[in-house]
Amino acid sequence: MTTTSIITRQLISAKSVALHRVCLPLIEPFRISNGVIAEKDAILIEITTADGVVGWGEASPMSGSFYSDDTPESAWGALSKQLIPRLLDAGEVDATRFYELLREFPGEAFAKAGLESGVWDAYSQTVGLPLCELLGACARPIPSGVAIGIYDQVGELLERVERYAAQGYQRVKIKIQPGWDIEPVAAVRERFPQIPLMVDANASYTIADQAMFRELDNFGLMMIEQPLARDAHEEAAQLQRALRTPLCADESAESLDSLASLIEKRAARIVNIKIQRVGGLSEARLMLEQARTAGLECWVGTMPELGVASAQGLHLAANAGFTYPTDIEASARWYVDDVIEPPIEIDPHGFITLPAGSGTGFSVSREKVEKYSTAVEKFVA
Ligand SMILES: [Mg+2]
Repeated sequence: MTTTSIITRQLISAKSVALHRVCLPLIEPFRISNGVIAEKDAILIEITTADGVVGWGEASPMSGSFYSDDTPESAWGALSKQLIPRLLDAGEVDATRFYELLREFPGEAFAKAGLESGVWDAYSQTVGLPLCELLGACARPIPSGVAIGIYDQVGELLERVERYAAQGYQRVKIKIQPGWDIEPVAAVRERFPQIPLMVDANASYTIADQAMFRELDNFGLMMIEQPLARDAHEEAAQLQRALRTPLCADESAESLDSLASLIEKRAARIVNIKIQRVGGLSEARLMLEQARTAGLECWVGTMPELGVASAQGLHLAANAGFTYPTDIEASARWYVDDVIEPPIEIDPHGFITLPAGSGTGFSVSREKVEKYSTAVEKFVA
């Protein structure tokens, strides 16, 4: 194959795009410092190319202000009014550079992530290669960690830690908030002294809480994720200087510019790279490169998403630059049902194996998409 033919085949032409709003029940409500959700809302994006290939993407913001300002409604608006018309008007697009077109529009990272990953999926199926190879990685078993929400009683948390550790997950992340921090962490450490453990505060503390973080510093945690507000880079740097435990940026690392600020201030040693938060697979790869160049460690986080985006996240996570377990978990950890086949599963050692084949190796069940659909809209070139 010549270089010219590779470049030519990066071009795809979208003939139509369908948006499917879906709502799936969670196995149990998920509570973090910002709120609680009992259902998973997502927008699935179905791109049909001129060659008849169907690529799927997923825009997966939480309802309300659970994680960010992005909501299913705002993402649907951006997709239908700006991003999908831009794709359809563009004619042929280079899948590897589509993110440059999306940069013409400010914000809307979740909507961009959904459309751009759908273009990558169509591209990988068109050329018949696994997505991870096109993203510059070789397929490898992906180490997976579990994220556990906030409960009323420590006993409920310990029961979940025991259950998920027994399933093989390679590390446990527990959500903390003011009033739910030292006690649950101490209880988990006492019961499971050796388990790789980390906490995620989802931006719920201030620098005035430094004494609490100094206490957490004694529990041998892998990292403390997003202790302070999204924009509190100076304070995060101050906190990092006071702790042995590495700080991990999540909400703070929303763009390459914010990551540059975190690096310059030494406000984090680790970055959780979420495809949804940064606006797509290409932006995530650029963030990985920027972080690794600066000596930061990285891992792939999740909202969590449904199977469509989770599968794409696993292909991103195959990159050897990701050195900590991903937050992407088995489908059955979150959902009674998922929209992909086969479901994502972990083995007893905590690894997820990517199915062979082009694209992600998973297929989207149209029957399930229709079953959980609450709205559909179609756009034609
Ligand atoms: Mg987080």
